[in-house]
Amino acid sequence: MTETADALPSEALDVLRRVFGYDAFRGEQGDIIDTVIGGGDALVLMPTGGGKSLCYQIPSLVRSGVGVVISPLIALMQDQVDALTALGVRAGFLNSTQDYEQRREVEQAFLAGELDLLYLAPERLRVEATVRLLDQGKIALFAIDEAHCVSQWGHDFRPDYLMLSELHERWPDVPRIALTATATEATHQEIATRLNLTDAKHFVASFDRPNIHYRIVPKDNPQRQLIDLLRTEHPGDAGIVYCLSRNSVEKTAAFLTQNGIEAVPYHAGLDSRVRARNQSRFLREDGLVVVATIAFGMGIDKPDVRFVAHLDLPKSVEGYYQETGRAGRDGLPSTAWLAYGLQDVVQQRKMIDTSEGDLAHRRRLSAHLDAMLALCETVQCRRSQLLAYFGQHGDACGNCDTCNTPPESWDGTIPAQKLLSTVYRLQHERGQKFGAGQLIDILLGKETDKVRQFRHHELSVFGIGTELKDTEWRGVIRQLLALRLLTVEGDYGTLVLTEDSAEVLGRRRDVMMRREPERTKSKSRSSSG
Ligand code: ADP
Ligand code: ZN
Repeated sequence: MTETADALPSEALDVLRRVFGYDAFRGEQGDIIDTVIGGGDALVLMPTGGGKSLCYQIPSLVRSGVGVVISPLIALMQDQVDALTALGVRAGFLNSTQDYEQRREVEQAFLAGELDLLYLAPERLRVEATVRLLDQGKIALFAIDEAHCVSQWGHDFRPDYLMLSELHERWPDVPRIALTATATEATHQEIATRLNLTDAKHFVASFDRPNIHYRIVPKDNPQRQLIDLLRTEHPGDAGIVYCLSRNSVEKTAAFLTQNGIEAVPYHAGLDSRVRARNQSRFLREDGLVVVATIAFGMGIDKPDVRFVAHLDLPKSVEGYYQETGRAGRDGLPSTAWLAYGLQDVVQQRKMIDTSEGDLAHRRRLSAHLDAMLALCETVQCRRSQLLAYFGQHGDACGNCDTCNTPPESWDGTIPAQKLLSTVYRLQHERGQKFGAGQLIDILLGKETDKVRQFRHHELSVFGIGTELKDTEWRGVIRQLLALRLLTVEGDYGTLVLTEDSAEVLGRRRDVMMRREPERTKSKSRSSSG
């Protein structure tokens, strides 16, 4: 089935039906496949679950030669090859997990023309022997999966991807198809440039995932909040819970298990066998919860993940979109839930400040975080804001928390002034810097030991903020951080003014804030969807 050089489009449809057992192409699959079969380059932006794999698998079967798929997801190659083999497609992979014999076998099959698809880890191309091997066989196409990894501005940069620009120089007649599920307009253009895809046709699918209900709630007691969510809305459902640290992954998994919800941990610090076992249990069993760091999930194809919960703030909107995108690939109603709090902002700003890399790199991380915070603090539809981030337009969706329970926005200028002037006074009258807790105690006029110790009850701002509750002040600080009217310094989460603070202190700028709507406990959906 790989012999015709210039095949007719109908041959693609035939392969779709005969090999994969599907009736029709979805969305732009047909056009993409035609382009590649015809020898053209393609750049494909399609959300998770959109059906990217067929876009290179079918042309690999229709064109003569082997389709070479570059993918960073080494852990999944075996599964992908097994799935293809089960369909009667001849597939193999080359990566660092194999021994010499296993590699040799795949290489032989490649040279003998006995493969339809060959999966390669990008670092393999650094090995001259691999390049020579490819030279000796016939290549139908190059598929560059997870193409956003070439972007230095993105959230998932892999240096080995930069070498992929050379594919075209070495094999000018082989069509290339680059695919990704996450790309802002800037990343999209960067992929095209870095991979030398000058003449490629661009296919940009809608990034909307209408069956996913988005919800972002203030973090209070996250494990409790999570249990409430799972019990009331997702009993017995499979899902993924993301935490930032390995430690909180372990703790959360144990907590869920103790509370009768079957959960397994997944993070890079676990023994690789344990990790593989937990992953395969998640794929095969019903209703298992995986608690994981972001190391989990790239390329995982489990259609019935009913919820993705974040207990910590993701570092970027791209990351958030990609992680939440693992929910509901089967198109059924699913939940993307995120709990976020002041501490997240403090912690992430600190991580950025102490991160390796130059100033430009830190600026980039900061911009990613700012966009994520803006999504958290928005009073608009979450979905339209998310789509806008990817340069797409969407109306208010009716299936996110802000659409279902619209938060009010309120004029927070005066509280902002009170808080900022407290920071100012401490800094300038006393030469002191403090974190959120102490600032709030001062504003609320609480005579704690620490207040007395530092004689903060003698400040003129002591007790000037009793119109708001503790949690409301936390919201104010969170939003000032999100707006960069306040920033975090040093190891203890101390808050300091920014250049822009003066505009608020000088009454030259108003600050609109988001008021959290009252919610009956974690039950905020208006309909069953
Ligand atoms: P992506 O790589 O874009 O996340 P996949 O290629 O894994 O998505 O496809 C997602 C799911 O949709 C898979 O189970 C796949 O078999 C299925 N699928 C893809 N294309 C079609 C189609 N034309 N008709 C029916 N199912 C499809
Ligand atoms: Zn909405």
